[in-house]
Amino acid sequence: MAYKKLLSTLLCLILLLVPLSSCKKEKEPEIQAKSYYEYFDTVSTVISYAGDSEGEFKAVAKAVEEVLGKYHKLLDIYYEYSGINNVKTVNKNAGVAPVKVDRELIDFLLYAKEIYAMTGGKTNIAMGSVLSLWHDCREDAGDDKIGTKIPSEQELIDAAQHCDINNLIINKAESTVYISDPKMQLDVGAIGKGYAAERAAELLMDMGVNSYVLNIGGNIRAIGTKADGGGWDTGITHPNKSVGERYITRVIIKNTSLVTSGDYERYYTVDGVSYHHIIDPDTLMPANYFSSISVFTWDSGLADALSTALFCMSYEDGLALIESIGGIEVIWVDKNYNVKHTDGIKFK
Ligand code: ADP
Ligand code: MG
Repeated sequence: MAYKKLLSTLLCLILLLVPLSSCKKEKEPEIQAKSYYEYFDTVSTVISYAGDSEGEFKAVAKAVEEVLGKYHKLLDIYYEYSGINNVKTVNKNAGVAPVKVDRELIDFLLYAKEIYAMTGGKTNIAMGSVLSLWHDCREDAGDDKIGTKIPSEQELIDAAQHCDINNLIINKAESTVYISDPKMQLDVGAIGKGYAAERAAELLMDMGVNSYVLNIGGNIRAIGTKADGGGWDTGITHPNKSVGERYITRVIIKNTSLVTSGDYERYYTVDGVSYHHIIDPDTLMPANYFSSISVFTWDSGLADALSTALFCMSYEDGLALIESIGGIEVIWVDKNYNVKHTDGIKFK
């Protein structure tokens, strides 16, 4: 799948995290890691630096797996699962009937509405009709990423008539969700992984876990610090593979999430022009401001949502947005690989 490349990136990231710990002079606890391949069409890895026993580590990994498994099903837009109504069920019932869903899905959708408001509509899960046009063209291109067409302007304009998130009607008391526009569809790809990562991290923190890193398809959630109180050395992928540098910069993280949105993994080309997967709601075209955006903040769901939103706005607008929220650090990498960043980031 398209995620093979991502897989190699993730494995390298894990490798980067591992030897840096072991080459320090003082003895550090043994690192334990377990990866899952079944969730969110990507690789999820639980890494322990806590020196836990095998049994303790297994219990933590199992807890993470359960959360990922639950949200994987709830947030799936392509498949339904027996015994559970999910986003696909809600989409299927657009203009038909409200769907009874679990509390977790209600909470997620309410959060997505908050994100919409916070980002001025730049991260909009109700944009499924537009996103699926791009998705289908990208899929047609296949593994070599060389495609033949992009959605027509008219198709995009027509689809954009059906992206009003106010038509997502959430009834908390009844625990139902209804899309009142029959042509509107939800696509939760911009928030889902990070949101699920945060729910897993929350559970671990409730269990008293410290010194763990969750890597959910490249969305990093660092829980606590390393045993010596230090942070983890993490690379920010260079958007241009041909320069021969895997990372454009390296940062030290602790007690935070780090989520990157980029134009270099999920894209296809038509007549030599590259079209990636993050669509600016204002132009209906792949956003054209940056090559990558990395967001650092405690909450992984927020980091994920903001990485998409900041990708779709200028540096000035992005800076104003994060200053209005507070507690957010960002690295912007522009199309020429120039780096701008906020002041609170610790670089290696
Ligand atoms: P990734 O999932 O590759 O880490 P993102 O978090 O930025 O990257 O999410 C991109 C996905 O979100 C796309 O594949 C698409 O499904 C969806 N998406 C793209 N643009 C938007 C947008 N402006 N608002 C909401 N969802 C979007
Ligand atoms: Mg995102």
